[in-house]
Amino acid sequence: MQFLLNSVIELITQTSTNLPPDVRTAMAAADVNETQGTQASQALGIILSNIDMAQQDEGPICQDTGMPTFFVHTPVGVNQIAIRKTIPEAVAEATRRGKLRPNSVDSLTGKNSGDNLGIETPVIHFDQWEQDDIEIKLMLKGGGCENKNIQYSVPCNLDHLGRADRNLEGVRKCLLHAVWQAQGQGCAPGALGVCIGSDRAHGYDLAKQQLFRTLDDVNPDPVLAKLESDVMEQANKLGVGAMGFGGKTSLIGCKVTAANRLPASFFVSVAYECWAFRRLGVRLDAPSGAITKWLYRDPSRKVEPMAAASGFPLTGREIVLTPPLTEEQVRALKVGDVVLITGEMYTGRDAVHAYLMKNPPPVDLHGAALYHCGPVMLKEGDEWKVKAAGPTTSIREEPYQADVIRKYGVRAVIGKGGMGAKTLAAMKEYGAVYLNGIGGAAQYYARSIEKVLGVNLIDFGIPEAMWHLRARNFAAIVTMDAHGNSLHADVEKETGEKLEELATV
Ligand code: SF4
Repeated sequence: MQFLLNSVIELITQTSTNLPPDVRTAMAAADVNETQGTQASQALGIILSNIDMAQQDEGPICQDTGMPTFFVHTPVGVNQIAIRKTIPEAVAEATRRGKLRPNSVDSLTGKNSGDNLGIETPVIHFDQWEQDDIEIKLMLKGGGCENKNIQYSVPCNLDHLGRADRNLEGVRKCLLHAVWQAQGQGCAPGALGVCIGSDRAHGYDLAKQQLFRTLDDVNPDPVLAKLESDVMEQANKLGVGAMGFGGKTSLIGCKVTAANRLPASFFVSVAYECWAFRRLGVRLDAPSGAITKWLYRDPSRKVEPMAAASGFPLTGREIVLTPPLTEEQVRALKVGDVVLITGEMYTGRDAVHAYLMKNPPPVDLHGAALYHCGPVMLKEGDEWKVKAAGPTTSIREEPYQADVIRKYGVRAVIGKGGMGAKTLAAMKEYGAVYLNGIGGAAQYYARSIEKVLGVNLIDFGIPEAMWHLRARNFAAIVTMDAHGNSLHADVEKETGEKLEELATV
């Protein structure tokens, strides 16, 4: 199979950089349906631009390229051992080329392997089949949406929906709850892959596999088809909207399977997928490993641009922020303001926040903008270059953020999905704001970074290091201000009320 390595590298590259047509169609529809001028429509504008930029530059659509997960079908007689050796080689090479972020972290030591290889990474599933070709499907599902996967053991009581019983009505409630609990943290609008039944482990596996169905297909089981269309219709009345800003499209797909279960168990397993819905597949000639066919798309059809205009539509009302920021500047901001950051910022996410609890920061953070971001960086000569740099889910830093603001004087926290009550209280007390970037817009934001000025704590690995960046016109929306207001809390409350209305439809 002399072409196998290149075929798998090409599969990884295309999956990471070029969104499949069914997802493009769903996102274009979300954009058309959204009320123009709203925060959700601004978010969708950036998302569509980002999709175009990723395809044009062959850069990762989102900086979080997830846990590479392969599903391989081979004809009888094909050497699976050779394929199992080649896939990790291809993953390491794609990482070296900046198509994948180094994402494989030793769970005991916290060390990033740097090449996406490690114990049980990448994930590879094998099956035999009675066809002549090899099929390899790949899913790149990032941590933000993976963290919003949820498993229900029914009967159970759900926020705003009451009791979910062991029947389809109970399942419907679970699925609406799954969309609601994700809010903007999983980069809505999202899609659900669902398994009713099975056991805990296999149920999640089957749920994830549902995400390989195209968004426009119809479930061959009429009962499940009705459930899928009911959930689509009802979830899109919730008003979570793009990035959880409130809006008309919260869900772009709902795909459900059912599997037998134990009499004592009734699980509803949900794989929540973000808008950066990256999955592709190829058929390979078995003797050579050459690609004979792409799945999910027709390479002979030109990829049409998605955005009407490139970048963020400026209105002239944007507020330019140039860190370091003063308390007065920050207190003048209010929820809903659009800001453009031009100047310096520092990245910091899980490892940096944990470090700052016990150690002073390696740089002066007074007045700083702290960006929750784990970028894709490549070293070219002596310089680091940003290959992808969208915001990560901020809520993970909730246990630390208030202390970081209090102790070190951070004035602006940039991320996505918002933060909780403790951070909001600290922002009010000490004078700081939360700026919501557009999750997954990794190429758009990479173009907003003029230069990498330096790096600290590089031992944490590329995604977790503290990068010192110079930005220009880095667009974000104030969603938590220094006066105790939070768009996230408001949307969660409003969508919770909608959920109550949907409890008995
Ligand atoms: S789009 Fe959002 S949820 Fe999806 S992988 Fe990127 S950061 Fe994670």
